[in-house]
Amino acid sequence: MENEKLVNENFIHRFIKEDIAEGGDYYGKTVHTRFPPEPNGYLHIGHAKAVCVDFGTAEKFGGLCNLRMDDTNPTKEDVEYVDAIKEDIKWLGFDWDDRFYYASDYFEQMYGFAVELIKKGLAYVCELTGEQMREYRGDLSTPAKSPYRDRPVEESLDLFKRMRDGEFEDGRMTLRAKIDLASGNFAMRDPVIYRINHMSHHRTGDKWCIYPMYDFAHPIEDALEGITHSLCTLEFEAHRPLYDWVVDNITAPVKPRQIEFARLGINHTVMSKRKLRRLVEENFVSGWDDPRMPTLCGMRRRGYTPESIRGFTDQIGVSKVNSTVEYSFLEHCLRDDLNERAARAMAVLDPVKLVITNYPEGQTEEFEIENHPNHPEMETRKVTFSRELFIESTDFMEEPFKKYQRLYPGNEVRIKSAYIVKCTGCKKDEDGNVVEVYAEYDPETRGGNTPDGRKVRGTIHWVNANDCVDAEIRLYDNLFTVEEPDAAEGDFTEYINPESLVVLENCKLEKSLLNAKPEDRFQFMRQGYFCVDSKDSSEDRLVFNRAVGLKDSFKKN
Ligand code: ATP
Ligand code: MG
Repeated sequence: MENEKLVNENFIHRFIKEDIAEGGDYYGKTVHTRFPPEPNGYLHIGHAKAVCVDFGTAEKFGGLCNLRMDDTNPTKEDVEYVDAIKEDIKWLGFDWDDRFYYASDYFEQMYGFAVELIKKGLAYVCELTGEQMREYRGDLSTPAKSPYRDRPVEESLDLFKRMRDGEFEDGRMTLRAKIDLASGNFAMRDPVIYRINHMSHHRTGDKWCIYPMYDFAHPIEDALEGITHSLCTLEFEAHRPLYDWVVDNITAPVKPRQIEFARLGINHTVMSKRKLRRLVEENFVSGWDDPRMPTLCGMRRRGYTPESIRGFTDQIGVSKVNSTVEYSFLEHCLRDDLNERAARAMAVLDPVKLVITNYPEGQTEEFEIENHPNHPEMETRKVTFSRELFIESTDFMEEPFKKYQRLYPGNEVRIKSAYIVKCTGCKKDEDGNVVEVYAEYDPETRGGNTPDGRKVRGTIHWVNANDCVDAEIRLYDNLFTVEEPDAAEGDFTEYINPESLVVLENCKLEKSLLNAKPEDRFQFMRQGYFCVDSKDSSEDRLVFNRAVGLKDSFKKN
């Protein structure tokens, strides 16, 4: 390990390095981490950060990382979430091998450890109601209290067993750890470690009617799996003494170390699963995988690559201070990746017909165009040219503004990789809308070159009207109009951007795109990066999502 060069070293890596060095608490041990999602929703980009930290740290130290469904809360959740979580982690490029676990598989052991604590005089059954417990919680100068604290061990053992046997209704009593009612850390004021809840669990069914609290369950799960480093987000920092207390006071096989890092927040979106679920259930979006969602399945559908997301989490780094990252930075990382990876193609989003009046009717010629300017191995494709093309309607102006270099009567423009054409005019309908643009081509300029060296400033993209493919293209913008929908006044759904989805139904694509497969990504010249929609696109009707535009709005400080 000494020779191992740690790139991108962060504070977690430094802690672990010390721990596994000679004299450290984990000297000679394999670094072992875990990612513990609650299977009650889909993973989002915040989870991706945790996945990268958990799996990435293990990878860095040649260690192991478990995938554990943290399902100690009784619910009747679908396996849908479990499967989706696995798929997303695999997609990101991480592998838990055969180490896939459910926290609910440890319920019996957890129960055993609770009994052990009672026997040691370190836990007791408390009959305060929730309301009373809040009332007796105390404050910084007043300790909490419970009249049940000194109840005999035998009595607690008996009651705890009867709690398990279903004798009492929800909320009637709890099991509390006996720690310190006067602690300045309220998490240590005899926290509840078991509660009664007569609710079916998606895996254990009705076997249990008492369930362990997170702060008790999590350290046990970690210890049972031999986790050495339990990496979690900052909100658990104040709970670390309790985490340590639990592993110190049960006969745990190992003592894991909890290290906290900052949660990821991104502006113009929300990240809590509860809010994401509302967006889905109240039909503000089309589903968890709506391309506007910050979920991994949504981002994948939008066109994000695993590499762009891993690059993003690498670059934002790991720290102890919660902060909000700009959405535009995420887009910047995607653009960086797709610029290298995506094949180039031409698509016209808002078409108008361009007629080359001096080009022979019925004639077609072919041009061979490279798929990527920097990657000859990505080979070439053929595009055809004929008398009638489609161009963007914004690439023609009858009366150009100053510095406009595209088509206007009398001006020469390069039809990308084909010819130089000179605009001769247009035809308009009764309302004055341009329905056709006219131009003449210069046969001497095949390939778009000017043999006489004359300057042609504008270059526009196009498709052949004879063989182009119709498609629907979906343009996306921020899902929320405000930077911090979580912090805005009123309900966050009031701030949904009505223009977050714009559907263009009449787009024209070059013929080669007929071969595009779901999730294929392209750079459409002058337009941005686009991805074939994995759900709605079919051979009969191609649907593309704009992953990100070409212009980078991320400002480096
Ligand atoms: P949410 O509030 O979105 O429901 P959660 O923390 O309840 O998130 P879990 O399924 O419990 O969701 O999360 C699994 C792991 O992912 C936890 O270790 C958690 O700390 C981490 N995690 C969740 N959200 C973020 C985030 N925004 N940034 C970094 N890590 C996160
Ligand atoms: Mg949680």
